[in-house]
Amino acid sequence: MDKILLSQKDMPKQWYNILADLPFPMAPPVSPVTGQPVTPDEMLRIFPGPLLEQEMSPQRFFEIPEPVMEILSLWRPTPLIRAHRLEKALGTPARIYYKYEGVSPAGSHKPNTAVPQAYYNKISGINRLTTETGAGQWGSSLAFACQQFGMDLRVYMVRISFTQKPYRRTFMRLFGAEVVASPSELTQAGRDMLAAHPDTPGSLGLAISEAVEEAAGRPDTNYALGSVLNHVLLHQTIIGQEAMKQLALANDYPDFIYGCHGGGSNFGGIALPFLREKFAGKDVTAIAVEPASCPTLTKGTFAFDYGDTAKLTPIMQMYTLGHDFMPPAVHAGGLRYHGAAPIVSALLNHGVIGAETVDQSDIFKAALVFARTEGIIPAPESCHAIAAVIRKAAQLKEEGASKTILFNLSGHGHFDMGAYEAYLDNTLEDFAYPAEAIEESLKHLPEVNL
Ligand SMILES: *Cc1c(COP(=O)(O)O)cnc(C)c1O
Repeated sequence: MDKILLSQKDMPKQWYNILADLPFPMAPPVSPVTGQPVTPDEMLRIFPGPLLEQEMSPQRFFEIPEPVMEILSLWRPTPLIRAHRLEKALGTPARIYYKYEGVSPAGSHKPNTAVPQAYYNKISGINRLTTETGAGQWGSSLAFACQQFGMDLRVYMVRISFTQKPYRRTFMRLFGAEVVASPSELTQAGRDMLAAHPDTPGSLGLAISEAVEEAAGRPDTNYALGSVLNHVLLHQTIIGQEAMKQLALANDYPDFIYGCHGGGSNFGGIALPFLREKFAGKDVTAIAVEPASCPTLTKGTFAFDYGDTAKLTPIMQMYTLGHDFMPPAVHAGGLRYHGAAPIVSALLNHGVIGAETVDQSDIFKAALVFARTEGIIPAPESCHAIAAVIRKAAQLKEEGASKTILFNLSGHGHFDMGAYEAYLDNTLEDFAYPAEAIEESLKHLPEVNL
């Protein structure tokens, strides 16, 4: 059996909140204004009450509201696929399964949280959102979700992607969103950056500043973030819960779980439900995989830092490369973020999970092997997980160990043909680890004394 499907009625009806089960405390988010833990009032300027509750609550499960279930069921449950052909090509004794999130309207896992975020804003009386997007996947997902609920959306799109990925722009407009290149003249953060660096390619950290600044300044508008925050990881746990049911149908259980890591949401989504069982004694190893050129988890510092460049967001305890770090323009745009989810960071810091890096050249090699065996062209982001899985499968072959590997195929790469073309033409540039830039930006971490 290659494809393990759940019926509609077996779709999980709750999200799993790992905050209920963490064997250690998490530091609270800190206000950039007062230097003390943020108050709900500060957060309510840009987030609706129900999402704020999910962000802070220790409640173990949250019911998925019926209108959200209805939209999610347009593409969920997603398939779990046994990668027989990949296993054979690698000659590995490992059993490899992947959860395929590319079947969603935006082609990635991101609509799993875009839909509930739009919904909770809508029922809280908000009809307009702002957000940022790097490679375009989050903007596409939120555009779809806002359109489902009849809401307006303005997307600040990192300028280099705005120019390089015109079809993602079209995708967002097709769903009714307004797309603006960031930095823009619409915000103070954007104007300041343009005055200082007129030719800047932009960054995710700066686009977040613009979207937050606008939302904080308009009572009719809230802000939505596609990764990093606790409630985003919560919404993504539907992936891991489904995978657990599907593996049970195949009479299997993972020894190793892999997910690529940008802000931590697809990795958290697949891993957190299994970590609940790890806390209860199961032997399972979860590993987040990031680019060698933006090595937040493996080379960053575990510290308090801002989520954005202009220091408007709360300060969170996380692995960070520094809020003003400008990651190299790797093709996996969704992994170019200076920080990491506080939950993933704390799990790593306490030795519950592992983290690894892979080079850009290796991810495209892995992509070719995967596409030519399994028939799916993966997103360059997802290829980080694939490359790490292939590395592990080779090691298991060496050891003659028959283990089970599960990974999250977070999205397809149909909008990434430019990157694939460069790889096939041998014009892809590899990026070294930007040691000096990271050392410099880590000098600018805020002081926090709680
Ligand atoms: C955005 C994105 C990522 C990275 O974000 P996470 O929050 O770390 O999951 C990974 N894969 C795809 C396909 C994406 O769109």
